[in-house]
Amino acid sequence: MSVAANTIPLLSRVVGYSVAIANNAGRIIRDIMKKGELGIVEKESAQDLQTEADRAAQRSIITSLQKCFPKSTIIGEEGEDEVNDLSGQVFDPSSDSSSSSSISSINCPPQLTTVAEEELVIWVDPLDGTAEYTQGLLDHVTVLIGIASGGKAVGGVIHQPYYNYQNPGAELGRTIWGIVGGSVGGMPIVAPPEGKVIVTTTRSHSSSTVNDAVAAVSPTEVLRVGGAGHKVMLLLEGKAHVYVFASPGCKKWDTCAPQAILEAAGGVLTDIKGNPIPYHATVAHRNSTGVLASAMGQDHQAFLAKIPLHVKDNLKA
Ligand code: AMP
Ligand code: MG
Ligand code: MG
Repeated sequence: MSVAANTIPLLSRVVGYSVAIANNAGRIIRDIMKKGELGIVEKESAQDLQTEADRAAQRSIITSLQKCFPKSTIIGEEGEDEVNDLSGQVFDPSSDSSSSSSISSINCPPQLTTVAEEELVIWVDPLDGTAEYTQGLLDHVTVLIGIASGGKAVGGVIHQPYYNYQNPGAELGRTIWGIVGGSVGGMPIVAPPEGKVIVTTTRSHSSSTVNDAVAAVSPTEVLRVGGAGHKVMLLLEGKAHVYVFASPGCKKWDTCAPQAILEAAGGVLTDIKGNPIPYHATVAHRNSTGVLASAMGQDHQAFLAKIPLHVKDNLKA
């Protein structure tokens, strides 16, 4: 690590290291797809899959984060067995010169500079968009590392391992990071076009309640794509105005990193009723009251007001 390590706020270091750790997980995900041995298993249902890439990426991310930040709480999607399996490929983020040199550019606001390692809860989705990964919709896949303090999403990293994969010659993959009240980096933030309401929502976990909520915001276009990380990326790059998901399907590891980056960029993410999503270590993993996220410059309250009462009533805490 660079000489400045001890003078840089902890949160900037966690975000900077998480960039390198997520990039490494992306390499693991691409390697497994290249080998073609996905090892698909069903978790709670046929709509809820896990592959060898989810497992291997989680092992690498968790063991690497534990090594760097042993006092923080780390919660990964793929469960305790994977978390406790220390055979994962430990990646030393300080060996990644490109990310360690850029940590000094990760701005942490004054109110977060004193956050201690033991106060952090790090939510890890090693592969968001598993259904789409198994179906070859590779640019829907992201790696999510979200950092919470005081029950709030404060920092995050989204890595998109297959960005540009249909663009031969262009650099493969991109990583965006942010700290709420601090800085955002990794891709240009673009406001969505005026005069349209482009809604993004699930493509593989729909229901009549999900569709009622989408219809209620009067979309001019609906982008049904995989992954919470990918959908928030669409908000950040100005390709959608609002992400509407009136379902209890998303978990804290799906929303923590996207929420922190979106809020760092001036957007908003709440549940479908407008309540904040809590991220402390003992919280229920499920976002049982849905998700509504608005891009920068959008009227979040106006979108919330359009969600029908029966949709809100269907989603109980
Ligand atoms: P989607 O927008 O459908 O790609 O979902 C975003 C995230 O929430 C992914 O990690 C999904 O696996 C998860 N998710 C959403 N709905 C469900 C569901 N019904 N069952 C399991 N996971 C879900
Ligand atoms: Mg996910
Ligand atoms: Mg996942």
